[in-house]
Amino acid sequence: MRQHDAAIAGGGPAGALAAILLARAGLCVALATLPVGVRRIEGLSPRVAALVARLGLPDAGVGAAVPRQSLWGERDGAFNREHPVDRAIFDAALLELAATEGVQVLRARVARLEPDRGVMETSAGPISARLLIEARGRRAPAARGRLRGPAGLAIAGWSDGEARSRVSQVAARPGGWVWQMPVAGRGTWVQVVTDAARARTLPLPALWAEIAGEAVPFPASAQRAAGELRLNAPDLPEGLLVLGDAAVAMDPLSGHGLFWAFSSALAAVPMALDILEGDGALARRFHRERVVSAFWRQARVGRDLYRLAGQAGPFWAERGAWPDDAPAHAELAAPQRARRVVVAGGRLAEADVLLTPEEPDGVAFVAGQPLAPVLDRLRGGPLPDAETFGRTITPALAPETSRLMHGWLAARGLGTTPQGIHRQEGTR
Ligand SMILES: Cc1cc2nc3c(=O)[nH]c(=O)nc-3n(C[C@H](O)[C@H](O)[C@H](O)COP(=O)(O)OP(=O)(O)OC[C@H]3O[C@@H](n4cnc5c(N)ncnc54)[C@H](O)[C@@H]3O)c2cc1C
Repeated sequence: MRQHDAAIAGGGPAGALAAILLARAGLCVALATLPVGVRRIEGLSPRVAALVARLGLPDAGVGAAVPRQSLWGERDGAFNREHPVDRAIFDAALLELAATEGVQVLRARVARLEPDRGVMETSAGPISARLLIEARGRRAPAARGRLRGPAGLAIAGWSDGEARSRVSQVAARPGGWVWQMPVAGRGTWVQVVTDAARARTLPLPALWAEIAGEAVPFPASAQRAAGELRLNAPDLPEGLLVLGDAAVAMDPLSGHGLFWAFSSALAAVPMALDILEGDGALARRFHRERVVSAFWRQARVGRDLYRLAGQAGPFWAERGAWPDDAPAHAELAAPQRARRVVVAGGRLAEADVLLTPEEPDGVAFVAGQPLAPVLDRLRGGPLPDAETFGRTITPALAPETSRLMHGWLAARGLGTTPQGIHRQEGTR
């Protein structure tokens, strides 16, 4: 059996992008995925579209951005933008690029991953690798006692042959919410999300009519998918990485799933190097810190979004109360220093970061420069004016970089914090 550096289970955006990046980093990679993955239209944010362009990825299946309108209680009439993406086409193009970059892509079912033996068992035979990567999305086996939000069910399909509008629209309705996305030349993709338990008591067309309205016909080939936030893999077992939905599956309402899948694939290279070249301790800490905080933040941001809809009824009451009443963003009275695992120069390293109310996970670099030496020189004191800061704190930095650094610190309220920055208790 050929020994690979990494074997990946699942070829959605997380698995395919991780495969591409690991191959670009010079590793020998195999990926096994089911012949048919996700088949639906999703919304892709301009932030993910920019990432696709920056990484030189194909944009097959991605349509032009359209305005997205919210009919959502306090947010009624708010607009942002999103691209429609046909996931079957997009995912296939990513896999094609992976193969071009030297990844061995197999259309096969993964039966199980055995990190102790370094083997991925597939319907095409076993694949041996020094590192296994779990990226089977919501179908990946989840950790015992995993956490999950109130169970949701998404029902979706093409509603008719004509796109009814040039804007996409998300609307809150008493029994759930509906998203309508016009796709040029194909019609309108409509997705209704309701409570999974209710869907067991009412026929789908009746639920659909209640939420989407009588004017939106029930799709002839409606598909169903589970759709709630899940914390599937808070911890990494030795010899295994877990990416994308397999780690934290996002609530479709967040529109954050593709970004999360891509950002976890971006972290896969430094994490893989830490496991392959070291003992993997930093990778395990990095995973836990990112994944657990992403889950709780998404849970609480989602709760606030459900509350904003201003709807009554069990669907909204349950989601507006879960998971708790804690604020979505850590309430820090002032910025604090803490030790965290960060990516520096493409590797994982332990570094001092600054936790701020805006960046509760911490920031290690500003304007491309490490923050820790600057904080050391400030010695916990308040921020001086920009000119003194450049002269006394950052004399080695270019004036423009020093100004950016000063502006960033000032925007976090450091200039108005007489007590300066303190170290978080329990960290070195
Ligand atoms: C109804 C719904 C709507 C959504 N809408 C949006 C949206 O508008 N915007 C957004 O950003 N996110 C959205 N999301 C979230 C988004 O779909 C996911 O976050 C994203 O697909 C995660 O990517 P992934 O690669 O981790 O997993 P997936 O995309 O699920 O990929 C997993 C891959 O593994 C393969 N696989 C599974 N089991 C096996 C096996 N045993 N053997 C081999 N291969 C296997 C699958 O075929 C698939 O190709 C939505 C989710 C749902 C449920």
